[in-house]
Amino acid sequence: MDFRFTPEEEAFRKEVRDFIESECPSDLRGGDVNFFQQIGPLVQWRSKLAQKNWVAPAWPKEYGGAGMTIMEQFIYNLETARSRAPAPIYLGGLGVAVVGPTLIIYGSEEQKKKHIPGILSGQHIWCQGFSEPGSGSDLASLQTRAVRDGDDYVINGQKIWTTLAHLSQYMLLLCRTDPDAPKHKGISYLIVPMRDESGQPTPGVSVRPLYNMAGTHEFNEVFFDNVRVPAKNLVGEEHRGWYMAVTTLDIERSNIGSAVGQQQTVEDLTRFASANKGNGVVRDLSSVRYELAERFIETEAALMLSNRVVTMQAKGMIPNYEASAVKLYSMELNQRIANTGMGMMGLYGQLSRSSKWSQLRGRVEFMYLRSVANTIEGGTSEIQRNIVAQRGLGLPRND
Ligand SMILES: Cc1cc2nc3c(=O)[nH]c(=O)nc-3n(C[C@H](O)[C@H](O)[C@H](O)COP(=O)(O)OP(=O)(O)OC[C@H]3O[C@@H](n4cnc5c(N)ncnc54)[C@H](O)[C@@H]3O)c2cc1C
Repeated sequence: MDFRFTPEEEAFRKEVRDFIESECPSDLRGGDVNFFQQIGPLVQWRSKLAQKNWVAPAWPKEYGGAGMTIMEQFIYNLETARSRAPAPIYLGGLGVAVVGPTLIIYGSEEQKKKHIPGILSGQHIWCQGFSEPGSGSDLASLQTRAVRDGDDYVINGQKIWTTLAHLSQYMLLLCRTDPDAPKHKGISYLIVPMRDESGQPTPGVSVRPLYNMAGTHEFNEVFFDNVRVPAKNLVGEEHRGWYMAVTTLDIERSNIGSAVGQQQTVEDLTRFASANKGNGVVRDLSSVRYELAERFIETEAALMLSNRVVTMQAKGMIPNYEASAVKLYSMELNQRIANTGMGMMGLYGQLSRSSKWSQLRGRVEFMYLRSVANTIEGGTSEIQRNIVAQRGLGLPRND
């Protein structure tokens, strides 16, 4: 198989590389940006990307994207990862990754006009209100209710694990609008303002923080107590939300995972192991060399799996179990890389960035803790395995 790019693709690759080289601030290029501590430089970088319509490069030009082809997006993402610049998806958050594409496909003209500019400029942060305490993998069982009352919907219920709800201006909410219909058929999509322009929470909305095991406040519980939302905030057809959400989840899944970033981490660990041989920081090299070699081979396999998905998309095919295979493999690989790093560094691996004794800016400690969530967020590994088993291998359902 020949993975070389065409001369035009090579030229585009150079354009991306040169742009990042000259414009992206160097302190954002360590591969370990902290969203909360480096918000200033991130905003700066984002506005430079915005000038080139590169914040949401895949979106059509009429909506402020660059209308990039699948291959151009792939090259753009690859070069961003190779240059260790923050991924565009990271900068744009769920607004760019999920909400914008959903509104472009299903939203009314009024919704697009109102919300797309704020998503692109970064003025509005969005969150995704899908999961509930009893409904994660079995999302269609969700219970948060929205009842039509005149020109409004009135919402009651609870969401959980809602990333960035504490900072968001809007939520894309999945809620039950017809409790008597079969579970997939009574769900709708609503846009819920989380706060007003002055930052005051919407009446009836309360957000409670949840801290992850890495100690960061990324996600929350969100409670709705008779929250009134105008009926014009309905996205697409009433009761058809499930079918739209399936598209949203496909969009989300196809964005997860970067084999290039993983390869760089393995290369960093390898360089670190060689540089610290015999000085007590790294465990006996003879016992970690095979592990590092294995991790490197696995990153090559992850790259091949991603290439397959991109090639399918470029041919107009819709990856299905193939996207699940990439998600599953790359997210479990993240954990194996973190384990290798932790084992290799011994006690040094456990030190966070804030310690003066930490190595590699505390990346191993953070990756070790944060990568636990990788096999849960965006659909757990078991769910991805079910998809591969049923749709890829044709095995019968397990129920
Ligand atoms: C970091 C992070 C960020 C998140 N951000 C958001 C967000 O912004 N918005 C949002 O709505 N949600 C978010 N989530 C929630 C996420 O989508 C759910 O946690 C996930 O879908 C799993 O649901 P659950 O936690 O309810 O686990 P459950 O579905 O209860 O699963 C528990 C266990 O049972 C297994 N299991 C369940 N069903 C099956 C089955 N059929 N076959 C085999 N095994 C099964 C699971 O794999 C898992 O191991 C986030 C989660 C994380 C970790």
